[in-house]
Amino acid sequence: MKYLVVELIRKKRDGYALNADEIAFLVKGFCDGSIPDYQISSWLMAVFYKGMTPEETHLLTREMKNSGEQLKWRDRDPSFLSAKFADKHSTGGVGDKVSLILAPVAACLGLKIPMMSGRGLGFTGGTVDKFQSIAGFKLDLPDAERTRVLKETGICMMAQSETLCPADRKLYALRDVTCTVESLSLITSSIVSKKWAAGVENIVYDVKCGSAAFMNSLPKAKELALSLVNVSKLAGMKATALITRMDEPLGAFIGNALEVRECIFILKNSYPEDFHEYLAAPLAQLSCRLAAEMAVLAGLYPVVEEAYNEALRCLTDGRAWEVFQKMIRAQGGTEDWHETLPKPIISIPFKSPKPGYLKAIHSRYLGLAGIKLKAGRELSTDVIDPTTGFELFKGVGQKIERHEILCLAHLKNEAQLKEIEADLLSAFEISDTPVSAPPELVLEKIS
Ligand code: URA
Repeated sequence: MKYLVVELIRKKRDGYALNADEIAFLVKGFCDGSIPDYQISSWLMAVFYKGMTPEETHLLTREMKNSGEQLKWRDRDPSFLSAKFADKHSTGGVGDKVSLILAPVAACLGLKIPMMSGRGLGFTGGTVDKFQSIAGFKLDLPDAERTRVLKETGICMMAQSETLCPADRKLYALRDVTCTVESLSLITSSIVSKKWAAGVENIVYDVKCGSAAFMNSLPKAKELALSLVNVSKLAGMKATALITRMDEPLGAFIGNALEVRECIFILKNSYPEDFHEYLAAPLAQLSCRLAAEMAVLAGLYPVVEEAYNEALRCLTDGRAWEVFQKMIRAQGGTEDWHETLPKPIISIPFKSPKPGYLKAIHSRYLGLAGIKLKAGRELSTDVIDPTTGFELFKGVGQKIERHEILCLAHLKNEAQLKEIEADLLSAFEISDTPVSAPPELVLEKIS
């Protein structure tokens, strides 16, 4: 069926829902170049203002999933017939390294984790960039290798390829330059289409909420969580979302190789003397909670509490560390990969300008400073420096003396300190009066 694109734009502009054929026409025409960017831009803006019904979002998601390769794990190996395929998706936060801990823990709980990850853009880090600081590690394995790694280790880490959801790749690039990224339906279809194409059957969303998150208020985060869960269900997946706080960074380290190092401490359950272990505890707990939600969703455990306790045991008794190492080596990591992680070149302490109590650590400023150090990207073409970043020494609620170290800045050279000093001053908010410790990370569950 051929449509007049301008009529489809008009229909959306006037608030009506498009049907399956109309959406397929737009997505296919955009991908094959027969519909120009300016008309798709106009339709995107109409979607931004008028929204989409859940059914319409589902149809867009399905069309985006169908635009490229689809991973059908069950067809690849007989041992996968009864396997439970699961994944987690985070909407992104500063210091969010949950995937590196959660994946081996979830594999220990009996799940298969084909994990499709993204690169970081802006002030939140991407899992792909963290893994790229590991010597020899490959995220672009050929199909047969992916199957072998998933079968042998329970995990396969993958970067989004050119062939998976090409419609999303093209649409996202256009949204980025037409100010239409922040649309609930467009965010939902972009995220869910990739999970659907990756062959995930059980998905847990970690929807971040707070000053350093995409969604900065609870109602907005809830709306996104509901949309993700609903559209995933319409796609035939089982889905749950946790809404979690993203105000202060997650864990003690921010920066790519630094974050891998923190995960090694947690997975080995062995911390260096100068490491502030209590800052890493919420990260370990959230990783286990999300893994437990995945195991319950897949039907491997009856209740979250039971799965969570087992997840904690896997983490503390070294099983998750064994699985993680096996996966790293199966994906090309060298024997001594954890001893050859890129190390900081110079480390300079950042000290508190006054005494008081640490009221807040504004992650957003640390993320922005991270971009200046090339620990994050300003442009999608920027090359990441795996060595740079921050190591927190204090947590929210703690008493601070004047000139006490708040964090270590890991830099390439001393001159970088000047570029980020103002961001660091804004990041640490010191109060004259006592403040309480931060509340729990998990704010709400949507299932
Ligand atoms: N992450 C995605 O993959 N897509 C979006 O649209 C937003 C966040």
